[in-house]
Amino acid sequence: MFDLIVRNANLPDGRKGIDIAIKDGKIVTVEASIAAEAKEQIDATNRLASPPFIDPHFHMDATLSLGLPRMNVSGTLLEGIALWGELRPIVTKEEVVERALRYCDLAVTQGLLFIRSHVDTSDPKLVTVEALLEVKEKVKPYIDLQLVAFPQDGYYRAKDGVTSLTRALDMGVDIVGGIPHFERTMDEGRASVEALCRIAADRGLPVDMHCDETDDPMSRHVETLAAETIRFGLQGRVAGSHLTSMHSMDNYYVSKLIPLMAEAKINVIPNPLINIMLQGRHDTYPKRRGMTRVRELMDAGLNVSFGHDCVMDPWYSMGSGDMLEVGHMAIHVAQMAGIEDKKKIFDALTVNSARTLGLEGYGLEKGCNADLVVLQAVDTLEALRLKPNRLAVIKRGKVVARSAPRIGELFLDGRPSRIDGGVDYVPIQK
Ligand SMILES: [Zn+2]
Repeated sequence: MFDLIVRNANLPDGRKGIDIAIKDGKIVTVEASIAAEAKEQIDATNRLASPPFIDPHFHMDATLSLGLPRMNVSGTLLEGIALWGELRPIVTKEEVVERALRYCDLAVTQGLLFIRSHVDTSDPKLVTVEALLEVKEKVKPYIDLQLVAFPQDGYYRAKDGVTSLTRALDMGVDIVGGIPHFERTMDEGRASVEALCRIAADRGLPVDMHCDETDDPMSRHVETLAAETIRFGLQGRVAGSHLTSMHSMDNYYVSKLIPLMAEAKINVIPNPLINIMLQGRHDTYPKRRGMTRVRELMDAGLNVSFGHDCVMDPWYSMGSGDMLEVGHMAIHVAQMAGIEDKKKIFDALTVNSARTLGLEGYGLEKGCNADLVVLQAVDTLEALRLKPNRLAVIKRGKVVARSAPRIGELFLDGRPSRIDGGVDYVPIQK
């Protein structure tokens, strides 16, 4: 007797009509027509069952604060940072915890069960750090939350940047962050990358840096990050977030940079929604997209995973906790609309992110943790097109969220009476 069987599901690898049997929080069997009983069954006929979505780059201390204390008028990254600087000294721990918990509720309904959040360490009171450490414990039964010590106002540029980041790590934050392009000079940025990689090596921690989130074709912090990663033996444990300057760099220089990044096994985290919104702001026309070189980085064998970055905060007034919205934008901005392209984009929202976060037991194979989501779509391509409802979200074998399928009722003479967008419009050719 199993605890739960998801029946007749389509899997991301293209297999159809597969049963997934779960017991004691683990996936026990994955095959067609399992002849066994379970306490609970979910009919997933014509539905995609996927491992849960993962957000490898988020700011949970700022989420859902849109309009506090005022709106971002210019819509730029720099006004967003200034605005957050106005809000940060007046937020309370309780308020940050409450907003984060509300966001996590939304995330669960979207099948988003793993999040890496940066937490601002610039204010020496570290209210944000205390709050997110509490949130991490509170959401443990349903969301795995990793925290990055993020010196938003600059590791060297902020008055107490160095000591506050160290204290945040001492308090239990698990990852070393940075923002070299926001330091006062290119040289201080370079020095910050070196210092932060050294801290990570000494403490045995991963690194995840906001790196070159600018339109400056001469910004060189990605190169420094890759070189320091190799020097400190951190290969595979370092993530470069944003890397938007790569969009604007000279092609010859990039032809040298990407192999260096591959040698360092840098995990690349573009944030398509935010990058297309915030970059290119000084351009008239033609206007740059600003997202890093996703296709070229993937082709070079680098692990690319996409982040949501922001939802309704000083930098971004939109967002819904839906990683398929992020993937949808990635397809457009990277111009990756081919069938194989889209499969890679779906991987970037799931298995690639699992690599970035260093997750164990992630996936739909026998022996993996019983974490999965059933979507109102027949396959990964349709999931990306439709951003469909998550019919069931399962964490360690327990259903933690359900949504009804989105069905349209029609009242037209001679036409169908109902439409299931997840099934009725699937292209014949794939
Ligand atoms: Zn960010």
